[in-house]
Amino acid sequence: MVDPRDERTGSAPPDRGWSLATALIHHPYRPPAGFDAPQPGVFKASTVFFPSVAAMRARHWSDRRGYTYGLHGTPTSFTLQERLATLEGGSHCTLAPSGLAAIALVDLSLLAAGDEVLLPQNAYGPGLALARDELARYGIGHRLYDPLRPESLSESWGPRVRLVWVEAAGSVTMEFPDLVALVERSHRSGALVALDNTWGSGLAFRPFDLVPGRSAGQELGVDLSVHALTKYPSGGGDVLMGSVVTRDAVLHRRIEQTHMRLGLGVGANDVEAVLRALPSLELRYDAQDAAARTLARWCARRSDVFAQVLHPALEGSPGHAHWRVSCCTAQRPGGRAAGLFSVIFDARYSQAQVDAFCDALRCFRLGYSWGGPVSLVMPYDIQSLRAPWPAHLARGSLVRFSVGLEAVEDLQRDLEQGLRALERHADSGQG
Ligand SMILES: *Cc1c(COP(=O)(O)O)cnc(C)c1O
Repeated sequence: MVDPRDERTGSAPPDRGWSLATALIHHPYRPPAGFDAPQPGVFKASTVFFPSVAAMRARHWSDRRGYTYGLHGTPTSFTLQERLATLEGGSHCTLAPSGLAAIALVDLSLLAAGDEVLLPQNAYGPGLALARDELARYGIGHRLYDPLRPESLSESWGPRVRLVWVEAAGSVTMEFPDLVALVERSHRSGALVALDNTWGSGLAFRPFDLVPGRSAGQELGVDLSVHALTKYPSGGGDVLMGSVVTRDAVLHRRIEQTHMRLGLGVGANDVEAVLRALPSLELRYDAQDAAARTLARWCARRSDVFAQVLHPALEGSPGHAHWRVSCCTAQRPGGRAAGLFSVIFDARYSQAQVDAFCDALRCFRLGYSWGGPVSLVMPYDIQSLRAPWPAHLARGSLVRFSVGLEAVEDLQRDLEQGLRALERHADSGQG
C-alpha cells in the first residue's frame, strides 16, 4: 500500500465531497520546488504545518533544521539571521523588533536581581533609560563609566557586575573608546561584554576579532554584538529591527530562551526589506562615510562658527587614536566610519540661533535615526544627557548630522545657507 499522504506537503489527498470553502483552503496544487531567483521568498506564518504527529513531536523550537511556529523562525528569518551573523563575524543571530528591543533582550537574558550592568557615560539614551527606569524595578543596578578612560571601568566596578556595554563610537558625542582595553578589563573581572555595533555596522571593525592576526580560538572580542538594523542594514528609514549576534553557542541559547519567552517576533515583510537592502550595505556605508567626512572637514575649517567638530576619523576628535587602531587596516589605511558627525557651535550663538539654523536646512530634515537616504539633523542638549559637562567637549549647542545619499555639494550648500539663517537670526535681534 502506498501512503496516501502527499510526500511534499504531508497533507491528506482532497476529498471530493468537500465544499468549496474547504477545497480552497485544502487545495492540493503545490508549485514545483526549485524556484530560484535573486531574492529569497517571503514566508509569512504563525502556523507551521507538521506532516504527522510523530514529526511534530520530533521537532523542537530551537532546532534550526525544522520549523515549529512562526515566532520561532521561518525560511525568511533564518536567511537574514545567517547573513547578519556573517556580516558581524559571528556564528549565531537572533532578531528583535527594534534595536532597543535587542538591547533589552540582552539585558533581560543575562541579568538577574542583584546584578549590575555598566554603561558608558555616552550610552545610547534609550538604552540608559531602560537600565535606569526598567531594570531598576527588577532589582538590577547600573553604573556609568567614562568610555575614554578604561581605568574608570575598574573604578566603577562592583562584585555584582555581570555585563558591560560598549559603544564605538558614541552616537551623539562620537567618542571612540579603546575597545581592546575595555574588553580585556571586563573579561579579566569576569563580566560579559556587549557592543552596540550600530555605528560600525559590521563594516568599520570586526567586533569578535579586535586584534587582527590572532589565530582561531585566540581572538579577542566582545561576547555579543547588538545592531539596530533600523539604521544601515534597512537603509530606507522605513523599518524597525534589531539583532543580537554572538560566536558563543551557550550564550546564544540563553538569548534564544529569553527571546522565545518574551515573544519577540519580527514581520516577514520587514525581514524582506532588510534582505533586499543588505547587498548594497557596503556601498551605501562607504558613500555616506565619504560624504560625512567631506562635510565634517568643511565644518572643521569654519572654526569661526564651530567650536568643535566631532567625528572619530578627524584628527583631534575624542578617541581618534583608538578609531585608528580599530578601524584602519593595511588594506584600508583611511579606515571606515559611519556617515555621522556632530558639531558644537561657538558659545556666542544662542540656542534660538542654532534652532534657526536647523529649521533653515532643506536637504537635512529634522528627524531621529540615520543610515537612510535622507540626510538628517538633530539638536541635542548635552547638559541633559551628560552632567557634569565632559571636559573633552567644548561648551556650546550641539547638533548632530546624519548624512544620507544626496549629492555632497547640495548638502554643503544647504549647510552654508543654514549658517546664513543663523547669522540673520542674530541680526533680527531674536537671538
Ligand atoms: C537607533 C539606535 C538604537 C535603537 O534602534 P531602534 O531600532 O531605533 O530601537 C540603538 N543603538 C544605537 C546606537 C542607535 O543608533
